[in-house]
Amino acid sequence: MFSTVVKRMLILGVPASILIATWLLIPQIALLTPERRELVVLSPYVITVVGMFLSIHFHRGRPFMALMLLILFYWGSRSALVGKSLELSLNEIYQVCVLLIPVNITLIAIMRERGVFSTVGRLRFMFLGVQGIVAFWLFRYNFIEILPYIVRNYSHLNIFGDMLVPESALVVGAACFILVAYVAVRRQAPVDSGLLGVLAAFFIASNWLTNRDIHSAFCASGAVIMTLSILRDSYNMAFRDDLTGLHSRRSLNESLSGLGRCYSIAMLDVDHFKKFNDTYGHDVGDQVLKMVARKIMGVGGGGRAFRYGGEEFTILFSGSRVSEAGPHLETLRRTIADYQLALRDSERPKDHRQGSEQRGRRRKPAYASVTISIGVAERTESLASPEAVMKAADKALYKAKSRGRNQVAV
Ligand code: GH3
Ligand code: MG
Ligand code: MG
Repeated sequence: MFSTVVKRMLILGVPASILIATWLLIPQIALLTPERRELVVLSPYVITVVGMFLSIHFHRGRPFMALMLLILFYWGSRSALVGKSLELSLNEIYQVCVLLIPVNITLIAIMRERGVFSTVGRLRFMFLGVQGIVAFWLFRYNFIEILPYIVRNYSHLNIFGDMLVPESALVVGAACFILVAYVAVRRQAPVDSGLLGVLAAFFIASNWLTNRDIHSAFCASGAVIMTLSILRDSYNMAFRDDLTGLHSRRSLNESLSGLGRCYSIAMLDVDHFKKFNDTYGHDVGDQVLKMVARKIMGVGGGGRAFRYGGEEFTILFSGSRVSEAGPHLETLRRTIADYQLALRDSERPKDHRQGSEQRGRRRKPAYASVTISIGVAERTESLASPEAVMKAADKALYKAKSRGRNQVAV
């Protein structure tokens, strides 16, 4: 349980390391020549433009909106800082930003991807725009009345006394942070963990607003995190299977070309899966594929699992002979055969015979299970290419099927 949580937290590694690296680089910025420091001030714009182009290219509306919010904040705060009176005008923009941007990033984290310029995408932009206008109007004309509520010290403990971000925004921000962290750890998608990184970068940038280096560096850092997450997300789309989360066939082809001189390849196929789908429906079929994929992912002996296509999977054992991989495959076969998938009422077979059988014991839970057949082959002098080994594994799989299924064949 604990190790699963830690494993799931790993998705936060990329944004966290970029934030830490940014923090460590801050003292170096001060040592740069004035011209180079200007480049640091410009960098958030440059990176954001790159990120926005990538978002459009990959139809990613969520990162696009997050980048837009971040850059509006940066542009707003920089133009308020440079050559203008700091007091009220900065405060209006600042208070609107520190309260509303985290809330909107959280909304972005919760919503589903619907593209940039699609109908839903455009509606979302309109929502942001209307929100901005209303907030600006409220703050512009009622600022004196609203301000005391925002900057009031609610806890009376004054723990955050030195912070620029008012306590109200800190509390809202902390709630947003927890929510986005939950979404990121649960969904395991780069864009969601990227949004958490943007939220953290935004808070650091807004709290150190008057320190030009920190402010610029962290806005740039947030834009880098978001842009990288778009790339990682599109990589996952190409190399990971959507349903099971396993590496895809394309990823298998890449791995095959990097194998050494000793390896084994196993081909796996779910038994009578067509009939299983016919009996329980496609949805339960998908659930079973997910379960099978999870078990295959956990195979021992250093095997790397792929979804070859449909209900067929491949495992690569790099550096192992069949004699070493075989026992792990046998354990895997047994684990899957023993697994009982609990069915909801609506998922039970509606077929006549089984229906009447079940009528007498309606309350009892119903289960479904599947078996798999496995064919495995290793590299030899006569089977010198990965393609030849795969073909041999396929032949062995056919043998396992014809011998009665639910077994491993060589
Ligand atoms: P065998 O034991 O000989 O392998 O029999 P089989 O029925 O499993 O063989 P076949 O390859 O003919 O059938 C594969 C079936 O797998 C057909 C298709 O309906 C089902 N299938 C393929 N991909 C998916 C999927 O993503 N989800 C679901 N639910 N079913 C799938
Ligand atoms: Mg098949
Ligand atoms: Mg099959």
